[in-house]
Formats: sequence, C-alpha cells, structure tokens
Amino acid sequence: MKIVILLGAPGSGKGTVAARLTAGDAALRHVSSGDLLRDAVRRRTSAGVEAEGYMKSGALVPDKIIAQMVGDLIAGLDAGETVLLDGFPRNTDQAATLDVTLAGCGGEISAVVQLEVPDEVIVERIAGRRSCPKCGAGYHVSFLPPKQEGVCDACGAELVTRKDDNPETVKNRLAVYREQTFPLVAFYGARDLVRKVDGLGYPDEVAERVRKVLP
Ligand code: AMP
Repeated sequence: MKIVILLGAPGSGKGTVAARLTAGDAALRHVSSGDLLRDAVRRRTSAGVEAEGYMKSGALVPDKIIAQMVGDLIAGLDAGETVLLDGFPRNTDQAATLDVTLAGCGGEISAVVQLEVPDEVIVERIAGRRSCPKCGAGYHVSFLPPKQEGVCDACGAELVTRKDDNPETVKNRLAVYREQTFPLVAFYGARDLVRKVDGLGYPDEVAERVRKVLP
C-alpha cells in the first residue's frame, strides 16, 4: 500500500484536491480524518462524543482517538491501494504512530504533498466554504459555486457552513496548524519525501499540479 500525505493548513484545498484526483482514478482512495471524525460526531459514537468539543474549538482531538480510527481504516484496505491521506498526521506523535501502523501492514509513505497557500487567501476561502451534509461534496460561494445557490449539485441537499468555519475557530485552527502540524514539513523533509505545490488557483489547476508530483 502506498500512502500520499496531503499536508496543508485548513482551507489549503486538501479535500478538494483529493476529491478531484480520486474521481478519475479507481486505484486512489481518499481518507480524510476530519470526515471520519464528523461522521463519528453525527452518529454519536463514543469517540465522536469525545471529539466534538475539541473540534468546535479548533483544537486537535486526542491522538489516540484519531490514530485508532485511521489505523483501523488503513488496516482494512487492500495492499494494492494508494491512499491520499488528508488531515492525518497532524503532529509528530501521530506521524510516529502512522509509521508503526504502516510497518504492521507493509505500507509505505511515498510522498508528502505540501500545499502552499497564504493566510489571507485561506481566510477568504474558508469564509465562502459550503458543504453538503448528505454526500460530503464541497463548494465555495465564489470559486466553486453550485449550479443552484445553496443546493448540492450531486444530491440536491441544502448546503451548510461547517460549524468550525467561523472566524474565531479558524484563527485557532490556523495557530494549531502552525504550531503542531507545520513541523511535519521538517520531519518528512528529513526523509526527502516533501513535494511543495502552489495551492493558489482553481481546484482543477491545483489538482493537476498535485497529480504531476505523485509517485
Ligand atoms: P479537517 O476537516 O481536517 O479540517 O478537521 C476538522 C477538525 O477535526 C480539526 O480542526 C480537528 O479538531 C479534528 N481533526 C481532524 N484530523 C485530526 C487529526 N489528525 N488529529 C487531531 N484532530 C483532528
């Protein structure tokens, strides 16, 4: 199993890029730790109930909760799959846990894609971000609007703004990214795995840049 880690601040486009790349390629699988957690919160599982407060404030949920979820999922995948890992690891302890999980199932990290987007663009992107609560499709009011305002193109559900996309929580999430997640650039840089990609532009353009650096 090959793992491609998508690394970037909240709003840098990790999920959007992953959705585009997986849409055209059955051998690629998108695994988003944020989606796993939001699903657990919706289903009111014990992990979801514990995670909810951390997510609302923009803090990271405890490592053991998310590492278990991602680890279980990865362990159940086929050896031939390539996984686009979006949102995990978020700190060096999680990165170490991922190494142990991969050693156990014969997987390897083949690249870490670092999406670079300036903070002011991030704030603008997050302010206009909308998502479908039913099928998970993502939109932006200016850069990626649905055909009919407020309605999902794919399934017709009413689009929502994520609870943690409010300005105060976003400020916190950006600080958490800088302090806890950004150090992973050096962590994986030491293994010569990091591929920097300009995250500015339309989703298709950014996805194409990412495709070019995939192993
Ligand atoms: P995301 O959808 O990746 O922006 O994640 C939304 C929220 O879920 C984050 O702000 C965290 O509270 C939580 N979360 C997602 N992934 C992780 C992770 N790997 N470790 C800890 N918390 C996470």
